Amino acid sequence: MPQLDQVVRDIADEMAQRTDRGEVATYIPELARADTKAFGLVVIDAEGNIAAGGDSEIPFSIQSISKVFTLTLALGKAGDRLWKRVGREPSGSAFNSVVQLEYERGVPRNPFINAGAIAVTDLIVSGYQPREALAEILRFLRFLADDPSITVDEAVAASEARTGFRNIALANYMKAYGVLENPVDFTLGVYFHHCAIAMSCRQLAAAGRFLAYQGRNPVTGLSVVPPERARRINAIMLTCGHYDGSGEFAYRVGLPGKSGVGGGILAIAPGKASIAVWSPGLDASGNSRLGRIALEELTKRLGWSIFGA
Ligand code: GLU
Repeated sequence: MPQLDQVVRDIADEMAQRTDRGEVATYIPELARADTKAFGLVVIDAEGNIAAGGDSEIPFSIQSISKVFTLTLALGKAGDRLWKRVGREPSGSAFNSVVQLEYERGVPRNPFINAGAIAVTDLIVSGYQPREALAEILRFLRFLADDPSITVDEAVAASEARTGFRNIALANYMKAYGVLENPVDFTLGVYFHHCAIAMSCRQLAAAGRFLAYQGRNPVTGLSVVPPERARRINAIMLTCGHYDGSGEFAYRVGLPGKSGVGGGILAIAPGKASIAVWSPGLDASGNSRLGRIALEELTKRLGWSIFGA
């Protein structure tokens, strides 16, 4: 698709020139080492064509983007029972808010804020050893991306485990309310590790394809989830995928998306493409600054916003 190739290359070139690159996350010390000069963008369309620009092959810490895939797995395991443990409304509070959790009696607002994602991980852990649960998450990502080389960055996982006091507080709080079934350290161990999975833009865009094509990989035809589930996961990405910047992301980009503090964003153009972008510098809401700007340019130039031109 020549036009798409050109648009992606142009945007990568434009992003390379920018000096307003945001600030890397430092609360997980290992993430502070990321290079703000990095920028990658990959778009995979329905025919499997890949348009890539910039650092599209460099693995980065996917962090909260992993929550899209753990949500998918947990829905596969528990179906709608999941919604007894976690809500699906935008939070309007910080992603690691303890106050909101207390106010809502231990039931997190949505599966993408930290407390919600920890509750989702707990559901995946039930009935398994933590190692097996993590292996299942990794297996799922490798299958979706069709790439067995995807792995956990152990240095990032250890860094977060050493410093993740707020997440430890959230998990203990939910445990007190009976929202978590498993020992807190089991669930958190799996959570820290799945957040520390490293993937390149190419791998991430490949893993997201099923969300763009009604739950199926359009090239192999393999079904991952029923169409209705893909639609609902996209809805949660649109409303809750960008922390307190979710409204702004919908306004500017107009696609379901999920960002992570590693500077990655997975965005879905339903029926058209799966898109991954990465630039480690974050804006004030904790979303990749250039990632968001690049996606805004992409949807504008291709007319891909779900809300129209
Ligand atoms: N592992 C990170 C945390 O729990 C994920 C943060 C994010 O990407 O939103 O703080």
